[in-house]
Amino acid sequence: MIISLIVPCYNEEESLPFLYKALCEVRSSEEGKGREFEFIFVNDGSCDNTLKVIKDFAASDSSVRYVSLSRNFGKESAMYAGLRKARGGYVAILDADMQDPPSLIPQMIKDLDSGNWDIVAARRVTRAGEPRIRSFFARTFYKLINRMCDVEIADGARDFRLMRREVVDAILLLSERQRFSKGIFSWVGFRTKWLEHENTERVAGETKWSFWKLFRYAVDGIVSFTIAPLRLATYAGFASAFAAFIYLIYYFIRAVILRIYDTVPGYPSLLCFMLFIGGLILMALGLLGEYIGRTYIETKGRPIYISAEESPSKPDEDLCSRDNLTSRDT
Ligand code: UDP
Ligand code: MG
Repeated sequence: MIISLIVPCYNEEESLPFLYKALCEVRSSEEGKGREFEFIFVNDGSCDNTLKVIKDFAASDSSVRYVSLSRNFGKESAMYAGLRKARGGYVAILDADMQDPPSLIPQMIKDLDSGNWDIVAARRVTRAGEPRIRSFFARTFYKLINRMCDVEIADGARDFRLMRREVVDAILLLSERQRFSKGIFSWVGFRTKWLEHENTERVAGETKWSFWKLFRYAVDGIVSFTIAPLRLATYAGFASAFAAFIYLIYYFIRAVILRIYDTVPGYPSLLCFMLFIGGLILMALGLLGEYIGRTYIETKGRPIYISAEESPSKPDEDLCSRDNLTSRDT
């Protein structure tokens, strides 16, 4: 069986030689067991010598294949391109900077071989060596997204994982443009085993994610998995209208029952009216949001379900049009 290892690379000329060496070590440790490897490097529009480095690998090693994107599309698109190209029965994705330790791959292969799992994914249990502020925002993001969305996304989950062919095919079915892979991996389901490891710092070069790029990615993640933010308008509108109501009762009691007239005449009624109308408008917006949100989810054209396993169908079971049914009945 072929095992595909996909590496998205953006300006990674310095780290690639280290990674390639590590991948070759994994290959030689596994090759005796009747496995074949393919290394798929995806050059994500690098502006350094990354492509040349990859081509050099390919020239001397027939298991190296590559895709070079026309510009920098981002890691998400690079991973999708790699998954499209992969032919393996097992497929892994790993970073070029050795932060996803290739030494975990043999363990991952063993776990998939056992037949008990469909995905073996890596999870970082520490964030040592990462700026404090970045860790803080990352943790907040995971808390927020897990509270708002139906899909569970583990804190510290990495894109580093080995998957069976079925899982890869399912992921390829989700062909949305704004991809948030951590959500997609979790959305497709299947039996996932987590391997925990310590954070390792990148071997060379520097991180390609600026704070803003990460922030945009976080927003993408939330927006593409839930329409909950659209619902905020409804809640705010409801709160505002409710406040107007309470305020109205309060002034009614003061003016009509207690006969206290210490405010400018007309002010309380005006305020109640404004709060109430504001609330109505917000609620209407929220309602609109619900419809737009549904349209948004529908336009993604995601599959309704993904089947992990099926009983083999009888030869004539696929022909389930009406004509066939009736002709069989009679
Ligand atoms: N990457 C990519 N396209 C991008 C940004 C990053 O293909 O636009 C790749 C990068 O080459 C690396 C992986 O994604 O292999 C992770 O990037 P990085 O190490 O910079 O992220 P970090 O580990 O700091 O989160
Ligand atoms: Mg990295």
